[in-house]
Amino acid sequence: MIFRRSYRRELFLYFLMVFVVFTTVISIIQYNREKEYKVSELKSMLNTYSDFVHSSIMHNNIGLDKDFSKLDSIKNLIPRHDIRITVTSLDGTVLYDSFYKNYSEMSNHLSRAEFQGALFYHTGSDIRQSATTKQDFYYYAKKYDNYFIRSAVVYSVNIRELLRVESLFWYVMAILFLVTSTVLLYVSDTVGKSILKLKDFAVKAARNENIELPVEFPNNELGEIGHQIVNIYSNLNKANIALSNEKDKLIHHIQISQEGIAIFSEFDEKILANNFFIQYMNLISDRQITNANQIHEIPEFEPIRKFKERFSTEHKHVTDKTLPVKRISISKNLRYFDVQCIIFHDKSYEIAINDVTQSVKQKKLKQEMTSNIAHELRTPVSSIKGYLETILSGKEIPVEKQRYFLEKATSQIERLSELIRDISVLTKIDESSELYQMEEIALKSVVGDVIENLHSHIVESKASVENKIKQNSKIKGNRALIFSIFQNLIENSLNYGGDNIAITIDEYMDDKHKVYVSVSDNGPGIEEEHQVRIFERFYRVDKGRNRETGGTGLGLAIVKNAVELHGSKINVKTRKGGGVEFLFTLNKVADIY
Ligand code: ADP
Repeated sequence: MIFRRSYRRELFLYFLMVFVVFTTVISIIQYNREKEYKVSELKSMLNTYSDFVHSSIMHNNIGLDKDFSKLDSIKNLIPRHDIRITVTSLDGTVLYDSFYKNYSEMSNHLSRAEFQGALFYHTGSDIRQSATTKQDFYYYAKKYDNYFIRSAVVYSVNIRELLRVESLFWYVMAILFLVTSTVLLYVSDTVGKSILKLKDFAVKAARNENIELPVEFPNNELGEIGHQIVNIYSNLNKANIALSNEKDKLIHHIQISQEGIAIFSEFDEKILANNFFIQYMNLISDRQITNANQIHEIPEFEPIRKFKERFSTEHKHVTDKTLPVKRISISKNLRYFDVQCIIFHDKSYEIAINDVTQSVKQKKLKQEMTSNIAHELRTPVSSIKGYLETILSGKEIPVEKQRYFLEKATSQIERLSELIRDISVLTKIDESSELYQMEEIALKSVVGDVIENLHSHIVESKASVENKIKQNSKIKGNRALIFSIFQNLIENSLNYGGDNIAITIDEYMDDKHKVYVSVSDNGPGIEEEHQVRIFERFYRVDKGRNRETGGTGLGLAIVKNAVELHGSKINVKTRKGGGVEFLFTLNKVADIY
């Protein structure tokens, strides 16, 4: 409202100023025209009087006897009494003056402006103050054959008079002013509405306040401009909202990303950093890191710092479509990190830290595994080759001996196929664990199946096996892998426990979520120095013996990986009273994952 008042007042003041200037100019022009008109009117009047005086002089033959005093009576015939008549000879000597009786004493008049004009141009005029009356006179002199006749009259073009004369003009001007003001106020009001709406809109937009769209504007050009501005604003607003949504998504993505990500300004101030970034920086740094800005204090990041500085100090422009990227690998405290720095166009930059320990270790494991496999294959393959070459050597070998060699070769082939089976199980767990379908399993019956499967081996070893798993224990797992876990563990007890051992499969505890399983035997057990390593691939306590007895060295590695695939960990310990005990948990059905 304040705006509207000040806006209208201002508009009105400007209008008033223009109006006053306009009226003054018109008045000046009018005044001058009036003056000119008066002068020409006077001129013609005085000319008439001069001619009248001249004709009177001629008529009365005054010129001949030079008795100009007769003019007094003639002058009285002129209706206006304020008219002054002066007659001078052609040399300027005053011959008669109607105002001044002693005209013979008057000085020569030829030098006066009106006489000079009459002398050269036949008539002349001048406006000046009379020395006697102190009034302004309009003098008009005309040259005749023998004399000049000058008529004069008091001259005044009075402003007040003019105003009085032109009162109609002032009435018209006043009405014009009123009408124009009213129209102007009306126009200013409609224009003001558009401006006011635009102003309200601009103030709200600047304050980021809620603006109800669409904003209605009066139907005029300003309103059209207002509409366009509001359209531009709402488009901009939509774009802003979309942009901020994208930004939110990006920030959210960065926050939950497994990568450590931080974005820094050109001046190394942190703009954004996620938790992993700080966590990884702490794993790499020897000092405790609490702020992403400390990254440049960690010596391991020196190459990144140098790379980034090259762009800020050399005033290089990042104009390429492909942004400059620097990648380095950091290995610290048995962990491996890939670090990548990207410089953006505005010279802000992103540092991403990736923990690749797992994949590096996996790679190493695979390399080890490959060389181990080659090593493990070599023994059976070369003995099979030896047996077959002996048979095929052409030497006379008794049939029993040949049979003996073939049996040996067959058992090595069995070893080979066991090895290949175990390797493929391990590889499948390692690389395609998703192929193992999880289902509901009655644990006691799976263990029962394993015992049945190993029946001849159990009988042969005169072992006793007790399945103490609860009848109603239901777990969630992969049948084949669960079977393989118990098969490997029980078979190991049979293989390494010696004869007459007792094997117990026990569900020693359970809670809401888990079944706690123990597989134990009362055999010779495993020395503690070996216990920490028996889950490694191809690790054997007694290498020579095991190779001969046929273990692949992968049994417990399969068990460990299978248990881990079921979300648990396996531990080994020496059983009370001798023997070995393996402990692990399995998830109950309610805990399906
Ligand atoms: P393998 O296929 O040779 O049996 P495993 O990985 O199954 O290999 O076992 C690793 C080693 O752990 C075996 O060589 C054996 O010496 C030892 N071991 C495993 N289970 C038992 C057990 N119940 N009693 C004694 N030693 C065992």
